[in-house]
Amino acid sequence: MTNNNQHTSGTVLQRGTKEYEKALGNYFNSEPVGRFPVEIHSVQSTADVAAALKRARELGVPVGVKSGGHLPSKPSLINGGILIELDKLNRAVDYDAVSGVVSFGPAVRVEEAWKATDAVGRFFPFGHAPDVALGGFCLAGGQGFSMRGWGATITNWIIQLEVVVPSGDVVIASRTQNQDVFWAARGSGQAFFGVVTRLWSRTIPKKTLYARSFVFTLFNTKSTEESIPSSSSLLMSIHLTAYANTLSEAENLLAVWDDVPEAIKSLSVDAKPTAEISWKDFFQLQHAMNPRAPDQNWGIHSVLNDPKVPRKKLIKAIKQALCDLPSRSSYGVIYMADTVDVDETDAVFSLPQKYYISTFSGWKNPELRDPIRAVMRQSYAKANTVACGMYIADFDPSPESTHSRTVPVWTDTARERFMRIREKWDPHGVFPGYKAFTK
Ligand SMILES: Cc1cc2nc3c(=O)[nH]c(=O)nc-3n(C[C@H](O)[C@H](O)[C@H](O)COP(=O)(O)OP(=O)(O)OC[C@H]3O[C@@H](n4cnc5c(N)ncnc54)[C@H](O)[C@@H]3O)c2cc1C
Repeated sequence: MTNNNQHTSGTVLQRGTKEYEKALGNYFNSEPVGRFPVEIHSVQSTADVAAALKRARELGVPVGVKSGGHLPSKPSLINGGILIELDKLNRAVDYDAVSGVVSFGPAVRVEEAWKATDAVGRFFPFGHAPDVALGGFCLAGGQGFSMRGWGATITNWIIQLEVVVPSGDVVIASRTQNQDVFWAARGSGQAFFGVVTRLWSRTIPKKTLYARSFVFTLFNTKSTEESIPSSSSLLMSIHLTAYANTLSEAENLLAVWDDVPEAIKSLSVDAKPTAEISWKDFFQLQHAMNPRAPDQNWGIHSVLNDPKVPRKKLIKAIKQALCDLPSRSSYGVIYMADTVDVDETDAVFSLPQKYYISTFSGWKNPELRDPIRAVMRQSYAKANTVACGMYIADFDPSPESTHSRTVPVWTDTARERFMRIREKWDPHGVFPGYKAFTK
């Protein structure tokens, strides 16, 4: 543990200033949430983080943390609290050629991580949404297109964290140092009780990205959004990705998709064979689905399916969530992570992730918010009946939330252990995110 008495270099933004307003607008979801921190500390060093925590103690207020601001419910914005904004902290990826390990700051975006690792001929699973930050991504667990083969980023790749704990001290957490912090950080997302200021990941030699896709037309849609043409039909798109050394290896990996069932062949409107895809085009796909604009509002609902529920029952329960989309920019996703053997002795990340099923709801006209939320609440009341839990990355803890409070984000035993560790490191509840997950 190191005591943090370096020189501070960050900026403190006060409410009412232009800079403060700008920082408040720097979130993926543009919808105002009506929560205003008393100060925003834009930090550049661990000493700045410690200074922000000291200030919070002096004022007796809680702390929110923001790496990339991608969580649509913006839990980092706490009314009357302090927001620690990590955008400028360690914003680079360093590669150690001897150990093959990369280290990076929490605000490094997915696309920046790809560029930096690609430049040195290496790879680690950094996810597929280009402007998500690795801080929030890794703390929640880190799903990505390679999770099915290589596990979640936080459990299978991240080997060490640097954390400023509530006392202001800097600790290194790994499987051999401060193991309890390392266990609790990996999968606690918004409930974590410290500020992660640097992460270390192992890497493998880079390969080539290949993709294959199918598009099917389903049926005409109903929508609450005025701009959707009545003739517009719902499409189902299947995107398959392989990270491989050669085209034939990728074709082999994706060959299981060769046999399109007869019953849906007539609905096919497009099918692209396995071919190399550039990372730029790959990221562009995500941008196209989740455009970020000053008037674009987003919500997210999701479940992790209970692997014991038979497929027929599962499909019936999630159909509404995926097909009754409330607006034109909304879309449903089934992400096949196939990660069911999770080891809760290694990390709080403890729920099986066979399929991650989610709906991104998008709207521009503020009047659509309530009708859209009503549709989502109803759809997910059904989907929750076949869930073993929810990915903590998506949970909205706010009073206006339409998420169920009874769907867990960890197993009961992992939750109890997490709460004990949290109490030890943050007895005064400086980081209040855990409160949404107490029973
Ligand atoms: C369009 C889109 C695509 C997505 N794609 C994926 C995906 O491919 N795979 C996947 O796994 N998830 C994905 N997610 C979910 C995403 O990983 C989470 O929302 C994640 O929390 C975002 O991280 P962030 O740092 O950008 O967000 P933030 O809002 O900054 O962080 C979320 C919360 O995490 C905590 N936190 C963040 N950084 C730190 C830190 N350094 N120290 C302590 N606490 C911290 C804070 O409590 C904060 O409120 C996606 C989300 C969106 C909106």
